[in-house]
Amino acid sequence: MLLYKNFPLKSFHTFSISNIIAKKIFIVHLLEELKQVYNECIVNNLPFVILGEGSNTLFIENYLGIVIINKVQGLRVLSKKKFWLIHIYSGEKWHNVVKKTLKIGIYGLENLAFIPGCVGSSVIQNIGAYGMEIKDICLYVDILYYKNFKIQRINAKDCQFNYRYSIFQNKLKKFVIIAVGLGLKKKWVPNLSHIVFKNFNCTNVLPQKIFNFIGVIRKKKYLIIKF
Ligand SMILES: Cc1cc2nc3c(=O)[nH]c(=O)nc-3n(C[C@H](O)[C@H](O)[C@H](O)COP(=O)(O)OP(=O)(O)OC[C@H]3O[C@@H](n4cnc5c(N)ncnc54)[C@H](O)[C@@H]3O)c2cc1C
Repeated sequence: MLLYKNFPLKSFHTFSISNIIAKKIFIVHLLEELKQVYNECIVNNLPFVILGEGSNTLFIENYLGIVIINKVQGLRVLSKKKFWLIHIYSGEKWHNVVKKTLKIGIYGLENLAFIPGCVGSSVIQNIGAYGMEIKDICLYVDILYYKNFKIQRINAKDCQFNYRYSIFQNKLKKFVIIAVGLGLKKKWVPNLSHIVFKNFNCTNVLPQKIFNFIGVIRKKKYLIIKF
């Protein structure tokens, strides 16, 4: 675990406003470290904010509390009868999950390629693009319950997913997301329902082809993001 005191936040959020500092910044790589810092914040009633990649967060003044940078990463694949169950820790970069699953022959995330941010944040706002949202494949979200610091599983049907919305923006705001479970069908069917695919060459459609197609569109659109 790394700790920075009175340190600039510039490198921890996409909009990188200069001269803004946080009182303390903890960078956590292990689940136990994340639990420890979270526990300290709750028990001592300290103001805190947890960040993934900081691509949806803008600091406009100094932050007098604790910023937790979540780098708890890792991905586990379980084979079920009809689908792959992917259990992913919340500090994993979303786009890396798309790339990793494609690489091992598990398909279904390609429409959501090149979206900035981490897995934890992805369910908070129910990320979506090009005809698909994370709610379409999310099975569960694991959170740390602040009263006993135990991990609690919220099934997707209870996440209140809606357009760029979930229960984690409201009733479960005080919780830290630890991991997300996704279910990806073994029998892959391309999702070409969005208008961007109007001129897409549909012969021999492969997941990698959709991934590349979306990459071209998004790289033109969002020049500031490096993947
Ligand atoms: C150029 C650009 C393009 C984008 N394109 C899209 C798009 O196509 N579709 C789309 O849906 N979104 C898009 N977004 C929005 C962004 O990708 C998402 O909001 C993403 O989920 C943010 O992830 P992050 O890790 O950077 O979030 P952060 O900014 O780090 O955090 C966002 C919020 O989540 C909270 N949070 C983060 N991690 C946790 C955790 N583990 N537990 C509890 N709370 C947590 C933070 O406290 C904060 O309130 C885009 C953003 C940019 C800058």
